[in-house]
Amino acid sequence: MQAQRYEAVVVGLGASGLACVRQLIAARRQVAVLDTRDHPPMAEALQRDYPQVPLITGPLDDAWLARADEVVVSPGVDRREPGLRAAVDRGQPVIGEVELFARQVSAPVIAITGTNGKSTVTRMIAAMAQADGCDAVAGGNLGPAALDLLAARPDAGLYVLELSSFQLESTETLTPVVGAVLNLSADHLDRYDSMADYAAAKARILNGASTAVLNADDPWVSAMAPSAAAVRWFGHTAGARDGADHWRLAMHKGMPWFCHGDVPVMPRRDLPLIGGHNSENALAALTIGEAAGLGTGAMVQALRAFAGLGHRMESLGEHCGRLWINDSKATNESAAVAAVAGLERSLVLIAGGDAKGQRFDGLASVLADRARGVVVYGRDAPVLEQVLAGQVPLRVVDDLPSAVVEALHLSCPGDAILLSPACASLDQFRDYRARGECFRQQVEGLADG
Ligand code: ADP
Repeated sequence: MQAQRYEAVVVGLGASGLACVRQLIAARRQVAVLDTRDHPPMAEALQRDYPQVPLITGPLDDAWLARADEVVVSPGVDRREPGLRAAVDRGQPVIGEVELFARQVSAPVIAITGTNGKSTVTRMIAAMAQADGCDAVAGGNLGPAALDLLAARPDAGLYVLELSSFQLESTETLTPVVGAVLNLSADHLDRYDSMADYAAAKARILNGASTAVLNADDPWVSAMAPSAAAVRWFGHTAGARDGADHWRLAMHKGMPWFCHGDVPVMPRRDLPLIGGHNSENALAALTIGEAAGLGTGAMVQALRAFAGLGHRMESLGEHCGRLWINDSKATNESAAVAAVAGLERSLVLIAGGDAKGQRFDGLASVLADRARGVVVYGRDAPVLEQVLAGQVPLRVVDDLPSAVVEALHLSCPGDAILLSPACASLDQFRDYRARGECFRQQVEGLADG
């Protein structure tokens, strides 16, 4: 007897995989689900809502994959996995959730990627569009999943999507009005054979874009400029590339302002976010918004009211005479370097966790220039210690609560104490949010004295 064929076999049953199942079932497609884990996160929801859908756990079964007209792969699954390679070699389409979104959406889409700053810029753009009277919604990598967003708000006027390199690998036909790449630095290199492969995955966001918005200061990103789309640049060196008036930060009345060409539009201090990298994020958002036709007044109004996102340079206020900052989302070195470089006061850094194979040379030099000290903790504290010792006063402790106490000792009144770990949190925490909440609790528990 011939094995039953499935129109789609979904690989990976997390939030994004379940969103795919929902959409495929609504479109009356025959679906099966594979997951390498014994207990995938959404198994119960699948069995409750779609008991007719087979779920096969354990090593990816080639016989099941071979039955699919299309393989729908989740971002958490490595495409170099032998089963998926075999599917590609057999000529089966291997697509993802964002591809399903792209085939269905009819309203305009703005798509944003980069190593750091994606969530922040995505939220800025959505707020700008809303201030301009557009019914904009935001989602994608930062949640909700793109397909869930489309199901919940099929009538939205604009979809603003944060997309990761993993999502872009399996996206073919997205045609955003604006596709933006914010920056690129070494991250996720466990999933790519080289930086060039990682960059190529990110650059896919530009394939169907009407306008590309790119960071002129970043050599990896500026090399992505497509010939088939209009290109708008942001960054210090944008002026050299962009004949048109571009957004930039320039001095006016003795302080930095966001300027459009030579016209000062808003003082930097009116943007309620800490850090030089957030000036860059605002410049990127202004450039993207302008490319999408948003009005300057609305964009500026949104930036003035932008409260920022939790766990990204989030001020926890003054305790024991120090300013405490939670930047737990800094899961890679370049985010921590940006955090340290962008703070205009003396600081003690708390870093550590799972180093993901990073070397931390950049962190060593920015700390040597700027920091009063550093406290390292967690599984890869010895890796950080080896690179940072001798560059800056350093303490090694086991965990984050001890790091808070040690950072207080190492600092002086008036300093900032910055949690910007440069590492993943998974050695000691469920995720970066749990790490940031632990930090907040420790800081709020300090006796002011
Ligand atoms: P993403 O969604 O790309 O992870 P987020 O906006 O969530 O980006 O920020 C993640 C981390 O990167 C935070 O620690 C934040 O302070 C830092 N960050 C934000 N924007 C930038 C930038 N433009 N350059 C470097 N680091 C940044």
